[in-house]
Amino acid sequence: MSAHSISSIREGLAAKTFSAEEIAREALAFAEAENPKTNAYLALSPERALAAARAVDAKLAKGEDPGALAGVPVAVKDVIVTRGLKTTCASKMLENYVPPYDATAVIRLEQAGGVIVGKANCDEFAMGSSNENSAFGPVRNPMALDRVPGGSSGGSAAVVAQGTAVVSLGSDTGGSIRQPASFCGISGVTPTYGRVSRYGLTAFASSLDHIGPFARSVRDAATLLGVIAGRDEMDATSAFSPVPDYTAALTGDVRGLKIGLPREYFEGLASETGDRIHAAVETLRKLGCEVVDIQLPHTQYAIACYYIIATAEASANLARYDGVRYTLRSASAQTLSDMYRLSREEGFGAEVKRRIMLGTYVLSAGYYDAYYLKAQRVRTLIAQDFAQAFEKVDAIVAPVSPFPAFKLGEKVDDPVSMYLSDIYTITGSLAGIPCMSVPCGNTSEGLPVGLQILTKHFDESTMFRVADAYERASK
Ligand code: GLN
Repeated sequence: MSAHSISSIREGLAAKTFSAEEIAREALAFAEAENPKTNAYLALSPERALAAARAVDAKLAKGEDPGALAGVPVAVKDVIVTRGLKTTCASKMLENYVPPYDATAVIRLEQAGGVIVGKANCDEFAMGSSNENSAFGPVRNPMALDRVPGGSSGGSAAVVAQGTAVVSLGSDTGGSIRQPASFCGISGVTPTYGRVSRYGLTAFASSLDHIGPFARSVRDAATLLGVIAGRDEMDATSAFSPVPDYTAALTGDVRGLKIGLPREYFEGLASETGDRIHAAVETLRKLGCEVVDIQLPHTQYAIACYYIIATAEASANLARYDGVRYTLRSASAQTLSDMYRLSREEGFGAEVKRRIMLGTYVLSAGYYDAYYLKAQRVRTLIAQDFAQAFEKVDAIVAPVSPFPAFKLGEKVDDPVSMYLSDIYTITGSLAGIPCMSVPCGNTSEGLPVGLQILTKHFDESTMFRVADAYERASK
């Protein structure tokens, strides 16, 4: 199971080496056996998986095209809604929420023959960088069980790294796909803002939220993105621009491409992580890329800017969890206002409350101009930094995280140090450009390091081309 890719499953199905149902059963059994070690799945979905797998087998028996993801076991982050399957957002608030509809990304991957094996653990409402903010316990990194898998999509990364799913869906607001991908030694992609419909993605910070794929190869990530991308009538922010065949970009040839190294991302990176990134840059140079130094001068303001905008939007988005509708309702409330207050007090975890308070503060009268409005202006400057850089280069490469996976518990009492760890991922999110993490070796302790590749809006093809060429050269 763990060795499968999208294409090895396609070939095996065509050659009748196995059926989709057999693959699904194997994945479910493997996930059940592995989960006590990592806590990466919040729930498995055997009925839905087997029904989807049988549908693929039936299509094959009739000689019909079973789709680009035929029989492929997929996990879905538990902030993405699935009809009839609990979607908790790793929060007590939604512990018993069973959505009446599917997210568009879920519909598209099932239409392509994908088999949803379960819902992946994450930080509560996708707020965090270590998966320790889940109300249902942290996820352990399958590469080093005493360490975090990263966050917030820690479960989605862990299941792909351990091989209980071939690919998965995560969400990224400020790094939640790239950082766990780098910590777990797999690829993770944040597409252009608007490239993938967010219909059915639980809103955290709507101007920053993305859905994107995790995979063990660049090719599988490109295939999955091709399936879920594209305009969706149900999400007014989804883009109209046509979706190219991303796998066509995987030529292995990057000669003549101009790669920018942002000076600000390499200052103070004298570490094993830095060594791995520098070695990866050398590999790209040997492959024929022209490497040039660039500047992204507003990088230093990115963390402050993000933690104002993201918390402001979160405070508004999370107002809907009021104890009235589909959420937890406090049993001890006597009055209506007590019901709101106690339900929110009992339902939300500490980090979510911290963000709601920060966000309410930066939006409040008297502080709005000083914080929120200013952060919006800084965001524009950060986006302009990238736009100017892409006049000179085809892609930018950078680290994903200043350090590899840290130990469970190491940063839980220090939210500021946790926020600071997002320094290299947040800028791309604020600019809304495509960015991904591709594995670039391990530290001496055997901890994976990720190389970040960023390109201009809607140029996922160049990003995949660079990542794939690097992946081939580094094998
Ligand atoms: N770690 C960042 C945060 O805590 C990013 C989270 C995300 O991308 N969902 O907000």
